[in-house]
Amino acid sequence: MEITILGAGRCVTGSKYLIKWKKRSTLVDCGLFQGPASHRQLNWKPLPHPAHDIDSVVLTHAHIDHSGYLPRLCRQGFSGPVYCTPPTLGLLRVLLPDAAYIQEEEARYANRKGYSKHKPALPLFKMKDAREALKKLQPVSFDTWQELHPGARFRFHRQGHILGAAAVELDSKSRGGERKNLYFSGDVGRYGVPILKEPEAYPGSDVLFVESTYGNRNHPAEDARSLLADEVRAGLDRGGVIIIPAFAVDRTQELLYLLHESMVENEIPQIPIWLDSPMGIEATTLYTRNTAEHDVEMRQYFSEQVNPIFPPTLRVTPTSSESRKLNGIDGGAIIISASGMATGGRILHHLKLRLPDPKNTVIFVGYQANGTKGRRLVEGESEIKIHGEWIPVRAAVRQVSGLSAHADADELIMWLSRREKDPSTVCVIHGEYDVQQEFATRLSEEFGWQPIIPDLGDTIQV
Ligand SMILES: [Zn+2]
Repeated sequence: MEITILGAGRCVTGSKYLIKWKKRSTLVDCGLFQGPASHRQLNWKPLPHPAHDIDSVVLTHAHIDHSGYLPRLCRQGFSGPVYCTPPTLGLLRVLLPDAAYIQEEEARYANRKGYSKHKPALPLFKMKDAREALKKLQPVSFDTWQELHPGARFRFHRQGHILGAAAVELDSKSRGGERKNLYFSGDVGRYGVPILKEPEAYPGSDVLFVESTYGNRNHPAEDARSLLADEVRAGLDRGGVIIIPAFAVDRTQELLYLLHESMVENEIPQIPIWLDSPMGIEATTLYTRNTAEHDVEMRQYFSEQVNPIFPPTLRVTPTSSESRKLNGIDGGAIIISASGMATGGRILHHLKLRLPDPKNTVIFVGYQANGTKGRRLVEGESEIKIHGEWIPVRAAVRQVSGLSAHADADELIMWLSRREKDPSTVCVIHGEYDVQQEFATRLSEEFGWQPIIPDLGDTIQV
């Protein structure tokens, strides 16, 4: 068996690992490259292995950098099953059509305004490709073995990163009867954060693929809720509107949970919160409904008939005409919109409108990847290009960094520490290269491992 790194090798997006047996092949994750143009261009490159020859896909979770290449894979002739957990399936029904919509919309907008280098600008995939991908989804419950082909099977383990997120344990038997098991961490979630159950500890395996997004640092020890409440109060003092770019899935729900608690504890006043993200609204419903994934505190709230991710002052704006009405608000309100790194979606319209006015506040609540507008804004750039137009940045741009769906360095070590067996091969994936090098050093110091950091296109023989 051999595994080829087709994404998230020395970078944080595009997760795709192709496992090839003699006659079969499976893709673990099928993500889009995001961030800088040099990465996004990789989405246009043909796969080194024909899509119609890939037998199946196994998804760790619904995030687009792990699932968003599916429509393009289908467009290239992939026709096998796509396995995922039931909550991931629910999220993908929302996320994939939205990704297609953004692709088509951006291409249309670029063509209308004539700012694309490519004429005409094309979408990476279309709505019909996303629908095709959705037809291939097959739900597999957590902790249940699913056969891929005779001699190879996998199961999902809860990873707590977002709703439905899993690690993939893949077990394969060679002709000689020797078994090997591979463990893909997917994105590791955090311990002690609201809403979802905690990650299940890594049990040990022959081969380990471990993510390393935060492999060289820890999240601040300060309480994220009080940091957020401080920024919200400061934003209200400035007198304008508070814009919070947030990923529709997970970050938005965690944010709503914390804002709800801050209001209950009188840390912030009861102000209107507008959730201006159709996807965020649907994800909030899915988070509410998937009660089997809720942690103890969340269940306690529900037993008291309180939904902490739907605070009483929350208003939602699913349609674009409702969204446009938010432009008339001039202060004393929070607008949460996607995307979280300001790479696309309705948030761009809010930023375009609100950034030039020093009364307004923009609060980023998560990791901002290299090359994104979010990164440029938190690094203090004085103007920023949105839809081809230069916008002056006079609003206060703040960052609350305690909120993250990713385990930090210590949590990754904790997640790995309860194993019953040491892996003989460790691949550090899904991280920026300098971070990965530091994390690999830490793994060898803590556990005596000799991790490798595979690059895009590298193959590992098992
Ligand atoms: Zn993720």
